[in-house]
Amino acid sequence: MKTLVTGGAGFIGSNYVNYLLTETTDDVVTLDSLTYAGSLDNLESVLDHQRHEFVEGDICDSGLVSELIADVDAVVNFAAESHVDRSIDSGSKPFVHSNVEGTQTLLDASVEAGIDRFLQVSTDEVYGHILSGKFSESDPLNPRNPYAATKAAADMIANSYNVTYDLPVLITRSSNNFGPRQHPEKLIPKFIKRAEQGEEVPLYGDGSNIREWLYVEDNCRAIDTVLRNGNEGEIYNVGSGIELTNLEVTHRILDELGASRDLISFVEDRAGHDQRYALETSKIESLGWSTEWKFEEGLEQTIDYYTSNYSSRKV
Ligand code: NAD
Repeated sequence: MKTLVTGGAGFIGSNYVNYLLTETTDDVVTLDSLTYAGSLDNLESVLDHQRHEFVEGDICDSGLVSELIADVDAVVNFAAESHVDRSIDSGSKPFVHSNVEGTQTLLDASVEAGIDRFLQVSTDEVYGHILSGKFSESDPLNPRNPYAATKAAADMIANSYNVTYDLPVLITRSSNNFGPRQHPEKLIPKFIKRAEQGEEVPLYGDGSNIREWLYVEDNCRAIDTVLRNGNEGEIYNVGSGIELTNLEVTHRILDELGASRDLISFVEDRAGHDQRYALETSKIESLGWSTEWKFEEGLEQTIDYYTSNYSSRKV
């Protein structure tokens, strides 16, 4: 199979490109516009791989996208503006551009080319937050920040192309990922970097917000399982069951680094900060997927990555 991976120079996408090239025999084309969040450093080990080609470009460029999709069997769309804070503080226009128009451009080209699989990488944030219980795939969408709203719009458009044009669309909605190659604007790498340098770690509100933490390698296997074995037109939640408050995550990072918990500084909460996400995952488990990473093991790998790589990276 030949697969187009969009957003493959970002965090999860680059881990997935590495996964495809080491765990499968697929040919891979990576398309990424190298925004502030993308970096060729993330693809360093595979840039010269004989089954891999990197193309710099925007998923909204319909000419380029049509040309690339005409030559592949499958598309896995990771490309997105992904930082909630930016969608609130700097405006949502780039989010609508990449997350909505970009997905629509890829879908149109995929219909035109008649590809075998289109996997849209989505998020638990499209459901909104849940104070108790877990979201299942049939729950209504209730996104509560501009980032999540653009991801929900993309899910709806992707699903409509399955119904309307019979495009073989699959959607994965995962919980918070962590692991190597994540941009240091996000909580775990930011706190590792700051704590390592003896700087304060700014925690929103009282730190009681709960996230379900999924090690990125487990998500890559989940995405690949759905790509190969998922049922067309279906949505699959991907979660770990590992629920931790942001304060607990911060304590674990500081403790692992041997840094003082006094580095924590509580700062004004994010506007509309979702309190808790949690996902029901029996549907993807029925495809034979389950997590392999414990939080502690994943955190150890992540800390090791940032403490040994950070100084040599441009971000
Ligand atoms: P990221 O910000 O690290 O990477 C996004 C990549 O997309 C970057 O390399 C960027 O250059 C590229 N990109 C952005 N706009 C583009 C465009 N218009 N054309 C081409 N490339 C473009 O994001 P991530 O954390 O790796 O997330 C990947 C996907 O997974 C996103 O769709 C996100 O919504 C979803 N997701 C992420 C998480 C998480 O915890 N990180 C959880 C659930 C879902």
